[in-house]
Amino acid sequence: MAKRYNARAIKKHRNYTAEELAELLDAHPQTIRSWVDKGLTCLNSSIPHLYIGAHVQAFLTAQSIRKKKPLEPDELYCLCCKAGKSPAGLMADFIPDGAGGGRLIGLCPECENICNRFTREEKISLVAPNLAVQRQAKETSLEEPGEAA
Ligand SMILES: [Zn+2]
Repeated sequence: MAKRYNARAIKKHRNYTAEELAELLDAHPQTIRSWVDKGLTCLNSSIPHLYIGAHVQAFLTAQSIRKKKPLEPDELYCLCCKAGKSPAGLMADFIPDGAGGGRLIGLCPECENICNRFTREEKISLVAPNLAVQRQAKETSLEEPGEAA
């Protein structure tokens, strides 16, 4: 999985060396330098080269938008991990919305939160070819009193 960098660790009004950015973002300085080839501007009139905080932030934000990709088959989206995950046990429930659509839900294998994928009933075999999907009754309430752990 592509690594995500925390753009919020960077202050807009500061300039950074590649080493400083590397430390803030938990990346290799060479990775920072490689971003220049991908469009990050740096002030190369100075030695060491300086990177403008606001530019780095904008660059990282643009990169993370570009990395948003459609889910692979059998993946549900985990809001917590912000990534597509094959649900734990390759099991999912399909909760129809009553209008032909609905959502697949499963448990994230990493954080154990609920992952979702909106789809249409007739597409389940395409989006979740290898998942054991249980069709549930139409969604009414998500609250289940006395839920077994
Ligand atoms: Zn997760």
